[in-house]
Formats: sequence, C-alpha cells, structure tokens
Amino acid sequence: MSQKISAPFFDLYLAQPRGFCGGVRRAINLVEQALQKYGAPVYVRHEIVHNKHVVDSLRRRGVVFVEDFSEVRDCRRPVIISAHGAPADVYRKAEDLGLKLIDATCPLVEKVHKKIRRLAENGQNIVIIGKADHPEIIGTAGQIGSYPNCRIIRSTKEAEALDFSVNAPLGIVTQTTLSIEDVVQISAILRQRFHNTDTLSGSDTCYATTYRQAAVREVVRHTSIMIVVGSKNSSNSRQLQKIALEAGAKQAYLIDDVSEMPWDMLEGQTSIGLSAGASAPEELVGEIINALKKHYANLKIHDIIVAVENVKFKSPAV
Ligand code: SF4
Repeated sequence: MSQKISAPFFDLYLAQPRGFCGGVRRAINLVEQALQKYGAPVYVRHEIVHNKHVVDSLRRRGVVFVEDFSEVRDCRRPVIISAHGAPADVYRKAEDLGLKLIDATCPLVEKVHKKIRRLAENGQNIVIIGKADHPEIIGTAGQIGSYPNCRIIRSTKEAEALDFSVNAPLGIVTQTTLSIEDVVQISAILRQRFHNTDTLSGSDTCYATTYRQAAVREVVRHTSIMIVVGSKNSSNSRQLQKIALEAGAKQAYLIDDVSEMPWDMLEGQTSIGLSAGASAPEELVGEIINALKKHYANLKIHDIIVAVENVKFKSPAV
C-alpha cells in the first residue's frame, strides 16, 4: 500500500445489506456444529459456500471438501450437502452408501426444488433461467432427473430461440442469485412468446440477492468506483460487480480481500463504494475499511441502507 494521502476528504459509501445471508450463515454453522460434535474430519460435498476464505479456514480445521462420495474415505463420518443443494440422485446414493448426511441446502433453494418438482408432476414444459454448470442449477435440474421438457437458458437470445410449443403450459424457475434485471428481461420474452405461462412461476431471486443488488445500485449513485468483496466463483458476488457497472460505475472490482485492493486505480479519486457478496465474511470488509482509514487521513464513511435484514432459518439437528 502507498503512503497516507492527506486529501481534503475521501468518501467511503458502504452498501447495506452486504455479506453473509441467512442461508450462508446457516450452512457454515452446520459445518461448525458437526466439527464440534464429531471432530475432524467432516466431509462437505462441494464448497459449503463459494468463498475462498471460508473454505480455507474450514479446511484448516479438518473439513474435507469432495465433489463425489467416492472421495469419502470413512463412511461413518458426517457428510454435509452445501448451501447450493444437490440433485435427487445424490441423496439416493448417500442412502445406499449409508452415509450420515447433514443437509445445509438453503431453505430458499429447497423451495425452488419443490416448485420444479410440482411443475414436472403437472407435466408442464419447464424453463430454468440460470447457469447450467452452477451447482445450484445442477441441483435444481437434478430434482426432475431426465424429465424431457426442461431447458436451461441464460439469455434473452436463448429465450427467443426456445423450441417449445407456444400454447403448451410453461413453468419458469430461476437461479436465486441472478441479476434481477436479467431475470425480468428473459421472463418478459418467455411470457410474450408462450401464451400459457404458469402465473405462479417466475423469479426465484432471493431476498438477499434482491437487497444486495439494490444497495449496490444506490451506492453507485454517489460514486463511480465500486469494490465488491467476494470470490470469483461466487455467482451473487459477480452479479454485484456486473450491476455496479450497469448502474453507471466507471470501475467495479471483485476482490477476495484487502491484498487485492486496486490502490493505483484510486489515485486522484475522491470516493469509493464497498459491498460484499452473500458468502463473504464481514471481517474482510472490516480489513478494507481499516486499510482505507490508514490510507486516507480524512476518510468519511457513509452507510447506504436500503433494507434491514434479520432473516434466520431453522437448522436441522446435527
Ligand atoms: S443467497 Fe439467497 S438462496 Fe443463496 S444461500 Fe443466501 S439466502 Fe439462500
């Protein structure tokens, strides 16, 4: 980091809410409870949440992250399903292997699972709006196995090209962490093209995604540089960076921690915005604020609050 700058003032706009959501908190707590009750190793299928710091810290405490149950060396140890959820056949396989499964799937993702199963039971055509290779979408699509009339799309172009019959009943489900604007645009095309779209179906973007995106939009009204704390494989963090740019920020950076702060790019600037994806710990934000305080003699902090969150989900017994 360079020397302390004694500019007349430097404004820091803090997005609220930011950082951990209810689903992420619940998932990390479940892993910690399992470590406490059973000791190490505890297995977790996939990264419990998409954040490098969270994963590295749990790994140091004895958590083993696996992509497949064949990597579980001792079937008597607990195995935790990540917050993103998993396809139905993963649960069947766990039962066959006699694994002690602890399910940390976010309840809001489970809600989407129930919805897609209902759409398939009704025999409707189904569109999933999301990223086909994201674990949440693999889990959502995997609720209905090889159901033939289901397509995963991610763009308005793909919505225009969808090959379903225009009069057949259509249900829409979405990834919980997408940009709200993207979902609105893609759904509008689907509703326009397919005349029998299920009125109960549509966006499944969760409260945490909605509020974090709204807060970033609001912050960008005050500053043209946005910093988002989060890992590159975190869908909701990447969306915050994208939304900042779409909302008018000239620069938006997605960084894992203070070591990646783009100090050179702040030269000559008088303000900055700061937020964090739903899987990023608040202590990482705190370290950036402290570094900014050291860097700028006259730092003024402004909280930009769009909502107050106090969502807590019930957890299963560990
Ligand atoms: S971002 Fe939303 S869906 Fe994902 S874990 Fe958090 S609350 Fe659940």
